Amino acid sequence: MINSDLLKTGVNEIGAELDSYAIDRFDSYAERLVRWNEHVNLTAITDPDEIVIKHFVDSLYPLRYVQMKAGQKLIDIGTGAGFPALPLLIVNPGLEVNFVDSVGKKLGFVKDVLRNSGLVATITHCRAEEISKNDEHREQYDYATARAVAPLNVLCEYGLPFVKVGGLFIALKGSSGEEELHNAKDAIKTLGGELAKFDEYTLPNGDKRSIVIIRKISQTPTKYPRKSKKIDTKPL
Ligand code: SAM
Repeated sequence: MINSDLLKTGVNEIGAELDSYAIDRFDSYAERLVRWNEHVNLTAITDPDEIVIKHFVDSLYPLRYVQMKAGQKLIDIGTGAGFPALPLLIVNPGLEVNFVDSVGKKLGFVKDVLRNSGLVATITHCRAEEISKNDEHREQYDYATARAVAPLNVLCEYGLPFVKVGGLFIALKGSSGEEELHNAKDAIKTLGGELAKFDEYTLPNGDKRSIVIIRKISQTPTKYPRKSKKIDTKPL
């Protein structure tokens, strides 16, 4: 059982709110995360208070800066055990979320949590850069999100092709965010983005985090994303 006061306080500090459905859903999400983690490698964090702060509250920080609305489309790249998109969906069940990861077992967990919570979403098992040239996905999303997936210059090439012009790419980072942002300046410009917001924040336990929000201001040139190996070895 998670500490719902800890969750509510953390979420209120962000400026968001939770109803009783959301609290129940977070509770069963945490319980399943710990249970699944015994046989699938999902997270190093299994203490209930740490799950609340380092996974749930951290994942909801985009809501301090962005008002996500029902019917908007969000793609979460390298979602792992569902972070940050599953907490965002729990708080706003009207979002249309696509959970993407290259590891099928992790998506099996996300599917289980969705089914158990009565939430509806799409799950896509692939590397992000393998589908972002398809019309079905290219520049179709209001938001792309990613936490702890790759350095920002690499991540931009995974994420920005999915975002429609006017939409946002939101990357949740640790304390290295500012340096990563500096190294990603060229990538952001080349891929049609512009920095909308960079901020540093402190989680309720004192851990430092940062958030980078990039607005898509023009279409991504069709040659991007390049092949996976090229993206990783020769980041923009
Ligand atoms: N976002 C989750 C979180 O914050 O807890 C998971 C982070 S985990 C360190 C990184 C995840 O990204 C892994 O599940 C990995 O399979 C996935 N991943 C890495 N590169 C990817 C890519 N190009 N496309 C899809 N998934 C990717």
